Amino acid sequence: MQELFDITMPIHPKMPVFPGDDPPQQKWLHRIQDGDANNLSALALGSHTGTHVDAAYHFVENGITLDQIPLEVFVGKALVIEITDPESISVDELRRHPLASAERVLFKTRNSSTLSRSGFQEDFVYIEGGAAEYLVRQGVRLVGVDYLSVDAYGAESSPAHHMLLGSGVVILEGVDLSSVEPGAYTLVCLPLKVIGAEGAPVRAVLMR
Ligand SMILES: [Zn+2]
Repeated sequence: MQELFDITMPIHPKMPVFPGDDPPQQKWLHRIQDGDANNLSALALGSHTGTHVDAAYHFVENGITLDQIPLEVFVGKALVIEITDPESISVDELRRHPLASAERVLFKTRNSSTLSRSGFQEDFVYIEGGAAEYLVRQGVRLVGVDYLSVDAYGAESSPAHHMLLGSGVVILEGVDLSSVEPGAYTLVCLPLKVIGAEGAPVRAVLMR
């Protein structure tokens, strides 16, 4: 039997959102309790709400949009690597983990334990620019992190976003790895098929 791990952040109005983004809204258009024939709602979501994917177009003006990324990138073997550094993911720490031929890498840091807090945590663990370059050189196609950005909060040059997205690597942000052990899995994280989008929420699961 295959074990299934849901690593998706629950979407609700009090979930953490990146400063400047709107919190998600669920507006009820019909309510059975009000005499309507059914319950029907409309969702208003930032495209980087909760667990989501970034396409190159997020940071690269002529980069590809989400609907142009082959689905194969979002489904397949993935390595969950535990990072002990409380501040950042560095080349030094990455060198201690065998990445050989890993197409998808998800980093489990102390962030996973703060993901369910409602307030945005500014001091989340991020990927250093040099570490992003190292991942590109290793041939990784998808990089996942357990908070809402691969770059440090307030890092205006966004080196990890530019390095990864500019090199054709897809970014998966906001995965909750708190109940997942490091190791090898199959990842499925399919984004909404929004034409021209620079990002979209996903339902992300790991299988073992
Ligand atoms: Zn994003």
